[in-house]
Amino acid sequence: MIDRSLSNKLFRRAKELIPGGVNSPVRAFRSVDGEPFFVRRARGSKIWDVDGNEMIDYVGTWGPAILGHAPSCVVDAVTRAAKEGVSFGIPNPHEIEIAQMICDFVPSVEKVRMVNSGTEATMTAIRLARGFTGRDKIIKFEGCYHGHVDSLLVAAGSGALTLGQPDSAGVPAEFAALTTILPYNQPEAVEKAFEEDGENIAAIILEPYPANAGLVFPKEGYLQFLRDITEKYGALLIFDEVMTGFRVARGGVQELEGITPDLTAMGKVIGGGLPVGAFGGRADIMDYLAPVGPVYQAGTLSGNPLAMSAGLAQLREMEAQKGWERLETIGQSMEAGVRECLNKIGKNLTFHRVGSMFCLFFMEGEIWNVDDVKRCDFDAFTKFFWGALDAGVYFAPSQYEAGFISLAHTADDMEKTVTATAAGLKAAFG
Ligand SMILES: *Cc1c(COP(=O)(O)O)cnc(C)c1O
Repeated sequence: MIDRSLSNKLFRRAKELIPGGVNSPVRAFRSVDGEPFFVRRARGSKIWDVDGNEMIDYVGTWGPAILGHAPSCVVDAVTRAAKEGVSFGIPNPHEIEIAQMICDFVPSVEKVRMVNSGTEATMTAIRLARGFTGRDKIIKFEGCYHGHVDSLLVAAGSGALTLGQPDSAGVPAEFAALTTILPYNQPEAVEKAFEEDGENIAAIILEPYPANAGLVFPKEGYLQFLRDITEKYGALLIFDEVMTGFRVARGGVQELEGITPDLTAMGKVIGGGLPVGAFGGRADIMDYLAPVGPVYQAGTLSGNPLAMSAGLAQLREMEAQKGWERLETIGQSMEAGVRECLNKIGKNLTFHRVGSMFCLFFMEGEIWNVDDVKRCDFDAFTKFFWGALDAGVYFAPSQYEAGFISLAHTADDMEKTVTATAAGLKAAFG
């Protein structure tokens, strides 16, 4: 048995002071019926908990750590910036540099504004779409997560989905009623919604590769269909690339799929591990924002020099190292290892991967939306999770979360990952 006694002790104390002991619910490990470990230190592909256990990490602080943990380029950049002052609340040159880089990497983004989280990015993109179009309704898809924005906290649940009822207490039904929830990958549902109410729909928002319900891909032509129908009805197309942006490719899913959204929400990787989000898109839409336009948005710490420096350093390093190409190679080797483990035990579990993002589903067969994911064997997943963790590999503690590979994952890590995967599968299936 792995000793996690110090973590368990800290968790008891945390629960007395912090609701559920955590500052973000998934960290509580409830979906794997356990308690979280507390981290002492993280570097490269590894994390060490307070009890001294070492783990190879495939969560990567939920996406941002694309170079691995605490890369020296980021640590140096933050340190250098801090010496000049940790926050100004007045324009600083780093803000122009990161804006230029985002616009260069993501051509649909002509202008961009920096915020402090992915949630702020989607929240404001929605407000901007409503202000720009003069319409109130938005379409989102079941199983797509866009942060904890009131009007987007609809449809991670089941029966109430189609009624536009909120998932969370505290979200007025009137807000939720402005959000139409549709199944992902079903063009007919979108067509019907626009036929019935097209003149009131401000925008469609989606994760172009939904990655908060496992990892799901659009069917051939689906994203183009969404682009065409929004254009036809004068609604905006918003890609939430908070997770996929700067991760699956330099320019995100929109680069891989060749689709140009009107607005894009960004976060995670662009912050280099610091609290950063951003949204951007067509200049005529972005100029609807205050102080030039009527849509208000602000932030005391937005464009913070430490956060901007961290993001810039991380993205420059990715570029210099041809990071996205190398991640594809590392991803392939990981996929081959996992598939080998599955073959050995004669299980044909569905494995999805794009570049450095992956998900092993505990079911066989095709997966096209969250309803498919709900058919997974969650009990087997839980056993797999703990089996792999006890063997020194930390995969995301929920079947609904994707995994992340970093440039710091080595061939040696891959070998250990295969061993731990096999141990996890043994725990799951005997
Ligand atoms: C993580 C995530 C968010 C929310 O970002 P936070 O920084 O946690 O607020 C929004 N959309 C997607 C697709 C995400 O993966």
